[in-house]
Amino acid sequence: MSTLHRVDPGTHVHLKEIEADGKKLHDDRDAAEEEFKKYRKKIADLQVRLYAEDQQKLLVVFQAMDAGGKDGTTRAVFEGVNPQGVRVVSFKQPSHRELAHDFLWRIHWAVPPKGMIHVFNRSQYEDVLVVRVEELLPKKVWEPRFEQINQFEKFLADTGTRILKFYLHITKDEQKERFQERIDIPEKNWKFSKQDIVKRGDWDEYRHAYEDVLSKCSTKHAPWFVIPSNQNWYRNWAISKIICKTLEDMDPQFPEPESGLDKVVID
Ligand code: ATP
Ligand code: MG
Repeated sequence: MSTLHRVDPGTHVHLKEIEADGKKLHDDRDAAEEEFKKYRKKIADLQVRLYAEDQQKLLVVFQAMDAGGKDGTTRAVFEGVNPQGVRVVSFKQPSHRELAHDFLWRIHWAVPPKGMIHVFNRSQYEDVLVVRVEELLPKKVWEPRFEQINQFEKFLADTGTRILKFYLHITKDEQKERFQERIDIPEKNWKFSKQDIVKRGDWDEYRHAYEDVLSKCSTKHAPWFVIPSNQNWYRNWAISKIICKTLEDMDPQFPEPESGLDKVVID
């Protein structure tokens, strides 16, 4: 499986030391864009097999600071994939009903069944990120969640789910530019909320919380990848490559046809 940008278990992640500019890591944007299209086509082809085989499951998690590109990545990478076999689940503020249950209840509900790819736009990790930074719950409640999440993901992996988790790494300057665009371009106004500025004020607290997530919850069975995401083209290239290689490794097969198909006559 691809090790590109993967956080090895036990690594202590310092995001300030990790490059967010993909263009500094890859000098040929045109070639990357061509490769991206090939990976995207392969993902679409392999998804057909995954769906037909109806045995394996793939869970893709996206987390990022606001304007990090979760929506754009989902759109770009899964364009061309049969929508029947992919489901995108966005986790918003929990409802009263969800809050009445344990924090993994709504997550478990949304994991992929056999044959499916599910994409999480935000995830169980919000429960150790926003909950921690905004002090929605005391430390004694959120701190054990790192281990609870690891155990939950291990259980999913043991029961046949491949898990890939992507942190879309952008700089604070890049976020500023993207927010400014959302304010300046009328078609993008809807993506902006004044609340985004409040969260931006807590950038360092969120960065620190993310560093804990990436350091404590990158495991062999559910690795985190820190993807340089200041340039969309690099981000799309890297993520599509990792997903493509993972699907290749899963190697889904069309099921055996019913016996005697060669003798079927259609009149
Ligand atoms: P996105 O930015 O992900 O594309 P959005 O910002 O447009 O989506 P919002 O409804 O504004 O959608 O964001 C969802 C909000 O719900 C985020 O602020 C997120 O931190 C919050 N949220 C998600 N999960 C939880 C949780 N478990 N507890 C508290 N807040 C949560
Ligand atoms: Mg938002």
